[in-house]
Amino acid sequence: MEKNINYLIDYQCPQCGAPATLKETDRLFQCAFCKVKSYLVAKDYFRYLLPHKAPPDKELLYVPYWRFKGMMFSCLPSGIENRFLDTSKQAVSSELFPPSVGLRSQALKLSFINSDSEGWFIKPDLPFHRAIDTVISQGNTQRSGTILHQSLIGESLSLIYAPFYVTDRIMDAVLNEPVSPVLDDSFEKNRFSGGPASKSIRFISTLCPNCGWDLKGHRDALVLHCTNCKSMWRASKKEMTRINVAHMPIEDNKTTLFLPFWRIRANVTGIHLKTYEDLVGLANLPKAIQPGWDRIPMYFWGPAFKVRPRSFLRLTHHVTLTQPRNRLTPEMPEGEMHPVTLPLSESIQTVKLNIAGIIRPKKRIEECLDTLTVDPKRYLLVFLPFAVRHHDLVQTSFNIAVNRNQLALAGNL
Ligand SMILES: [Zn+2]
Ligand SMILES: [Zn+2]
Repeated sequence: MEKNINYLIDYQCPQCGAPATLKETDRLFQCAFCKVKSYLVAKDYFRYLLPHKAPPDKELLYVPYWRFKGMMFSCLPSGIENRFLDTSKQAVSSELFPPSVGLRSQALKLSFINSDSEGWFIKPDLPFHRAIDTVISQGNTQRSGTILHQSLIGESLSLIYAPFYVTDRIMDAVLNEPVSPVLDDSFEKNRFSGGPASKSIRFISTLCPNCGWDLKGHRDALVLHCTNCKSMWRASKKEMTRINVAHMPIEDNKTTLFLPFWRIRANVTGIHLKTYEDLVGLANLPKAIQPGWDRIPMYFWGPAFKVRPRSFLRLTHHVTLTQPRNRLTPEMPEGEMHPVTLPLSESIQTVKLNIAGIIRPKKRIEECLDTLTVDPKRYLLVFLPFAVRHHDLVQTSFNIAVNRNQLALAGNL
């Protein structure tokens, strides 16, 4: 069982240089000193350094590790299994270095790689999916029987660079301990392709591109909103991009929390699933087909927030089967919104899983999952109102409850 590691990151305000500590999930940063806000984006992945205690005369050699944190779902003939995964794996294949970053990093503060970080940075030569395939197949060896489909729904994919230096052995520069046997004379550290560090993060302005107002959001929000012109924005590589948003209105906003869902329209091949009528048939819902249902488009729904894997799956299936389609207002809600913390790209990964969970009879999964392809076409971010109760959040129109604890805990996922 993997430990759930929450890294802390040493950070400096890009405006005034004041020190700060970030959580790994933080994106919107407001400096406690100069109050300037910035939104953090990675050029490709967030790249972190582990701090070192190497003797000052040693040249550092940084080895990259892929880090994945998220949910893993396995479709089996008997149903869908879930587990939470928090793991790291070498991004260069070399037996000289440890296979993973290991748990020691739990107590250490990371920092972002910057152009002034000293050392030789080995370039990753193992793509993420190859590294993670190894992790998955290691997990599968303890299992017997057919696995029809597996998907990883992550909210953290990053590179962690661990420092080493060379004496007559390779030394771990975090612990100052050897990790390799005595090296033979032929060892040259330059055989690893790489180079000096380069900047890995960018800052995007948090002013609304539409009206110039200050965008708002939680510190871990992937989508920010403008209270002035009622628009919502997500960071792309260089700028804020406007997103399509809607909500289901409710009369009493006071005791309501709006939870965000991604609604995805996708072309599916290998199975007939385009309309509401198709969905009722596929899921064998106890409903008599009504005229016109063959003209209502079918959408895939899924949480746009982090929640425990079991609840995630339940919400995905339940909301998709419900197909909320009436009374959607094409703007953001007025009431309190839960932050979007699961990106659209990850939600798209759930479509196959979504189909596998609703198809009846279950044995049909085996026939069709293999040949199924999913081509996402359109998306909408939809806020659904949930009544805030003592222990639960409840969507009364279609009888869905989410344990508040599950959402609170998910902040640490
Ligand atoms: Zn500052
Ligand atoms: Zn605005």
